[in-house]
Amino acid sequence: TTRLDGKTVFVTAAGQGIGRATALAFAEAGATVHATDINEALLAALPNIGNLTTARLDVLGDAAIGSFVEKAGAIDILFNCAGFVHAGSILDMKDSDLEFALELNVKSMVRTIRAVLPGMLARKDGAIINMSSVASSIKGVPNRFAYSLTKAAVIGLTKSVAADYVTQGIRCNAICPGTVESPSLQDRMKAQGDYETAKATFIARQPMGRLGTPEEIADLAIYLAGATYTTGQAYAIDGGWAL
Ligand code: NAD
Repeated sequence: TTRLDGKTVFVTAAGQGIGRATALAFAEAGATVHATDINEALLAALPNIGNLTTARLDVLGDAAIGSFVEKAGAIDILFNCAGFVHAGSILDMKDSDLEFALELNVKSMVRTIRAVLPGMLARKDGAIINMSSVASSIKGVPNRFAYSLTKAAVIGLTKSVAADYVTQGIRCNAICPGTVESPSLQDRMKAQGDYETAKATFIARQPMGRLGTPEEIADLAIYLAGATYTTGQAYAIDGGWAL
């Protein structure tokens, strides 16, 4: 297993789901972890671990990200996990939903990467991991227009950053999960009305016949943080959905 002793990690959306599991896994691997989220109550519920500190951070705010990074000091690993799933096709979608999806799912990553890159470049070492999805340029998924558009953009920005800084010690990769057990997935299932049918439908998308766990995604994030010969890749982790 990858050890990350001596490394400092900045995680967005660490309050629940994949971000939470990954922040805890980074701490377990020995890293110093800055677990951030917009929701302070969720951060307060994280276990008390010596090498993990929490901070409220809204990834929609450029100035807040800048001052957070300045205070945090050297950051070796950035895990951009914040994102929101809008339901609906192109005709269902409100312009305001697309604007919001672009802000939260894409521009948040532009902001955090811009804030941490100068420090990484000065040390000629940095790993950036961006949360995409198989619902992106990998696979067309019904009723996920705004979401898939933004998650495809995440793959594009990942490859672009990887290409620009590949000779300067920076790696940038994307994680593309299928359907993963999380609080927001539970909300999406409940929102469909018939919870049991919705759950069965979500499970059936994966040929493996089950949902992924946040811990399985966290394992991939830890791997990518230490995988020194890969950059610019979109890693599907989806129970075979995109086969
Ligand atoms: P989730 O959706 O249950 O939780 C999202 C977290 O983001 C919450 O803790 C929330 O407080 C935080 N957040 C919301 N707005 C924020 C903001 N402006 N600034 C900072 N934090 C904010 O978690 P999840 O389902 O594990 O999803 C995490 C990421 O993984 C998202 O980018 C999502 O698109 C992606 N993803 C999830 C799945 C899945 O099936 N769960 C599949 C593919 C990709």
